[in-house]
Amino acid sequence: KPPIIVRDFATALGMKPFKLISELMEMGIFASMNQAIDEPVAIKVGEKHGFQLEIKHRGEAAQQIQQSAKEKAKVKEQAAAEAEVQNLAMRPPVVCILGHVDHGKTSLLDAIRKADVAAGEAGGITQHIGAYQIEHSERKITFLDTPGHAAFTKMRARGADVTDIAVLVVAADDGFMPQTDEALKHAQNAGVTLMVAINKMDVKGANIERVKQQMQERNIAPEDWGGETVTVPVSALKGTGITDLLDMILLQADVLELKANAKTEASGIIIESQIEVGRGPLATVIVQRGTLRVGDSIVCGPNWAKVRAMFDDQGKNIKEAPPSTPVRVIGWSGAPDSGAEFKSVKNAREAENLAEEAEHLIRKNTGTTDAAPKEVSVESLF
Ligand code: GDP
Ligand code: MG
Repeated sequence: KPPIIVRDFATALGMKPFKLISELMEMGIFASMNQAIDEPVAIKVGEKHGFQLEIKHRGEAAQQIQQSAKEKAKVKEQAAAEAEVQNLAMRPPVVCILGHVDHGKTSLLDAIRKADVAAGEAGGITQHIGAYQIEHSERKITFLDTPGHAAFTKMRARGADVTDIAVLVVAADDGFMPQTDEALKHAQNAGVTLMVAINKMDVKGANIERVKQQMQERNIAPEDWGGETVTVPVSALKGTGITDLLDMILLQADVLELKANAKTEASGIIIESQIEVGRGPLATVIVQRGTLRVGDSIVCGPNWAKVRAMFDDQGKNIKEAPPSTPVRVIGWSGAPDSGAEFKSVKNAREAENLAEEAEHLIRKNTGTTDAAPKEVSVESLF
């Protein structure tokens, strides 16, 4: 058998020779770089670092080490990461609409909804569940539709970024107003892609050039002014420009290359929740990763659910929700907080246990920490 030289052995273990020397010293063995150590010592040191010693008769000491448990775990991890990449598939963009009060956010959300051919055919009844999904050019787009809930800010406060694209609505007659700037700041802080919809193009005082000038002043110059901000003139009232807006949203989504793994345990964000007589607690969630299915067990802070049923924004029963899908979930133990993250777990028992643990932690921390994130005054931005 060839000798085990300190320098080579250190290389094989992936550690600095002096580090190995000092470790050996701790074991009462004094060896320099070029000296050999005994096999039992090498085995001991190897084990300490998660390696298993295997001495080959030929070749360098670097080849003497069999792949260790640690390394095997690393390889496994890498394989999982690769599988994750392979499973990544395009997902629809999640869009929110921000802007000054009365500039037409609600009207625009309504106009977009009306432009959804698929929903019209399905003949469902519109349910305001905090988010909806439409189809345009045979692709899906998810919109947050949460007036008065300030969900965007709440989620931001929790560090949960559910939004990919923010559409800033600016009325063509009013131009930028204080809340427009506030909304712009929020979108920029959130790091989402910004688009501008210049609304009320039908009104007499509409002045698109002035709005573009104001965008320029704020360093968000429109594309046709040499900037990067996609800008679409629309009239939510007349329904004009809506198709362009949706086209541009899809184009932005392509640029962003939005992807998610649909083949894993579901996780995502609570958009809103309430307790309904007869149905118990309900929560609208947006799945961000994986696919949520009826029967899944999910946990969200101190609340958990065995998903009894799921509904879309047309009140239709659905069985599966892939990434970016907004769904209303029933089966909760209590109403989870909007902006909180949920995740799918093995079974109901685990969900319940995790929820109990979270409850426990909250109780322990009550009084010592400010559990609820401070709300920012953006109620009116929606
Ligand atoms: P929000 O406060 O931003 O949600 O604004 P709303 O959607 O409630 O709209 C405020 C007012 O502006 C309503 O009276 C709408 O009918 C009107 N409005 C919205 N969009 C348009 C538009 O494109 N043209 C005109 N003329 N009026 C609009
Ligand atoms: Mg509104």
